[in-house]
Amino acid sequence: MRSLLLTVILLPLSTQAQIPTSVRADSLAIRSIHTTTLVQGDCYDWLRDLCALGPRLSGSVGSEKAVAYTKSIMDTLGLDRVWLQPVMVPHWVRGDQEQAHIIGRRPLLNESLTLCALGGSVSTGDDGISAQVVEVHSYDELRKMKPKDVEGKIVFFNVPMNQAHLRTFHAYGETARYRVFGADSASKKGAVAMVLRSLSTSLDDYPHTGVMVYRDTTVPHIPGAALSTVAAERLSAALREDPKLKLHIRMTCETLPDVVSYNVIGEIRGTEKPDEIIVVGGHLDAWDNGAGAHDDGAGCMQSIQVLQTFLDMGYAPKRTVRAVMYMNEENGARGGREYARVADSLDENHIFAIESDAGGFTPRGFGIDSVLLVRINANWGSLLGSFGLHELTEGGHGVDIGPLKEHGCLLAGLNPDSQRYFDYHHAPSDTFDKVNHRELKLGAAAMASLVYLVAEYGVK
Ligand SMILES: [Zn+2]
Repeated sequence: MRSLLLTVILLPLSTQAQIPTSVRADSLAIRSIHTTTLVQGDCYDWLRDLCALGPRLSGSVGSEKAVAYTKSIMDTLGLDRVWLQPVMVPHWVRGDQEQAHIIGRRPLLNESLTLCALGGSVSTGDDGISAQVVEVHSYDELRKMKPKDVEGKIVFFNVPMNQAHLRTFHAYGETARYRVFGADSASKKGAVAMVLRSLSTSLDDYPHTGVMVYRDTTVPHIPGAALSTVAAERLSAALREDPKLKLHIRMTCETLPDVVSYNVIGEIRGTEKPDEIIVVGGHLDAWDNGAGAHDDGAGCMQSIQVLQTFLDMGYAPKRTVRAVMYMNEENGARGGREYARVADSLDENHIFAIESDAGGFTPRGFGIDSVLLVRINANWGSLLGSFGLHELTEGGHGVDIGPLKEHGCLLAGLNPDSQRYFDYHHAPSDTFDKVNHRELKLGAAAMASLVYLVAEYGVK
């Protein structure tokens, strides 16, 4: 079925009469959502401007510019309410450009490697760290090593993302634990630093940062860094030639005191059930080494686009629809927790939240809480499918809306095509030119379509 709308237009009247009125109306509304977004939507231009403001990791000057800019967009739309919600956020800074090079017995091996500090890492000190390298390919391998083989060395997790998965997020889910906890585990074995192969599905020279965590306060906090996938290949090859080579790394990152920042929120008040609140959101902060175009400038601008589309097509939602740009998803998720805390303290009734935090690529469908998934599949599966949204799967919402679940809110996430996302994720290559204007707008239209259905019919 090409589209339900075409069916409605092309079939004779006698057949049309068999299609319930609400299905016809919903099909026309969703067609209008797509047309309005594709023809009149401004999200692509907003994203260009957002990316031009500079890096916007929590606590940075760029993040405050992003807050002001995002609020200014919503202020001009004619929403019922726009406001900033204060939240204390961590403030980690990268310091000088990181340095890494191999010191081998054979001068040929002595090359520089591209590397970046992981978010939250401690510094190496001004002089840097030079030490032998022990390459491992899993936690199991590290666990089985004798402490004397690790002590005083740099542990190198060379764990490629598994290319066999059709959806790259599955590979990311398997491998991210090395980035998050690798330094902690290496330190327990007596290592002086941890470097890992970047979490990327491509082979290039961009290092991909991301959050790391020191779980154990009883072991020393050692530096954690990511090598580009090319640098990881080079280091591994050099180790095969000279297992006793040393790696020198220098990073001057540090964690400063927490600072105040903001979630940015705008809403259209519902006409019939204003107390039932629907959230559509993304996270405004982004890693400092890139422009955060796909992660997650795209999701933020798409969320505001949902509101602009509703206003432009003259649709007044029955339930309140709120766009929320969360602060600090990348290294703390404080914005998401604070939003849920405030919602709870105000006794607000959030019935549904959807987040776009998987890139601004062609939408394929949604990940949805199981209770709602059954209902959406049964009632609207073919309708959404006729707009290219075929993949309705269980679970998979964004991090920021997660805390709303404790208060009974049903969750969903936009599922775009994932094949290119981890080329750019948390890397200097995540820039505006990697975003296609039609793909970005289609993602916004997809979210607006699902939000429209929930705004009309609720979740019960
Ligand atoms: Zn993200």
